[in-house]
Amino acid sequence: MENQNKKKIRLVATGGTIASQARSRVSTEGYQASVISVEDLIAELPELNDIVEMSAEQIFLKPSSAITDEDLFHLSARVNELLASDECDGIVITHGTDTMEETAFFLNLTVNSPKPVVITGAMRPAHVISTDGLLNLYNAVCCAASDASYGMGVVISMNDLILSARDAVKFSSFKTDAFQAPLYGVLGTVRNANVTYCYKPLMRHTTTSEFAGAQYGKMPRVDVLYMLQGIDDMLFKAACAAGCKGIVSAGSGNGGVIGAIGKAYKEEFEAGKDELPVLVRSTRVCTGGVSDAYRMGNPKIIPSHDLNPHKAAILLRFALAKTNDPAEIKRIFEQY
Ligand code: ASP
Repeated sequence: MENQNKKKIRLVATGGTIASQARSRVSTEGYQASVISVEDLIAELPELNDIVEMSAEQIFLKPSSAITDEDLFHLSARVNELLASDECDGIVITHGTDTMEETAFFLNLTVNSPKPVVITGAMRPAHVISTDGLLNLYNAVCCAASDASYGMGVVISMNDLILSARDAVKFSSFKTDAFQAPLYGVLGTVRNANVTYCYKPLMRHTTTSEFAGAQYGKMPRVDVLYMLQGIDDMLFKAACAAGCKGIVSAGSGNGGVIGAIGKAYKEEFEAGKDELPVLVRSTRVCTGGVSDAYRMGNPKIIPSHDLNPHKAAILLRFALAKTNDPAEIKRIFEQY
């Protein structure tokens, strides 16, 4: 009974560079994207069978820039279904790194189980010298099989580090240490199959998330506006005309909403427009977040705190799917 005490880990593969074939042994770009099936991927890592009872499925095979809302709800439903069974002790998801932090945060809100969910990928395609994919995958499986990962929420395991889905940011577009958690730091490490956590996320996630198990048919439209010196209000007006229910500003500094956009928003508020979108102030600065300043007597102006613009957009869409009450939306941004 060789497998008696081994954890049952399910690999759910979605594509990305980890599933991509290098053009040559020395070329890390211009590879054949998302072409390696999950069967071929795990066939290269027989060592996994020494540590866990491994099974795998291909939920989709695409670059992460092509992932849709529908894909995300499908993935989240599948993860919840797998975790509800005694046949699954933890899940590893392979994923493109470009939007990995978004999928991770989405799952952190919607997974309905304390069992480990670990996302990993690669910065270098398969079969290039010094590719990072297989070791990242091995480490992610160690992480998913560790009792210490229980109740940690969704985590990203890349480059020997373990990061909370909430805090992880893709910080380099080419280095293998692409993921960092600039404000609060990483949760732990995986070294030579040893999983060590030093910190535990305290904000709401997975089993304490009010969105756990959520399946929304159509999510409200939210647009992100990047603040630039001298920007006019054209994109703000276009977003309103497109029916957006919320705007996230990638603001300057402590979430400053620049000139013409701030003015246009204030005018619409003063004109008492009911359909005025909620404005969540985030920042284009990579760490530090924003404080609860600049509310200008308008309850619809809400700080993202330390969520970056793309994570703030995800949380705002979930919040707006549930409520239009700005006080409730503000409460949600304080708790996640
Ligand atoms: N460059 C990406 C990656 O690292 C491609 C993607 O996000 O799918 O996986």
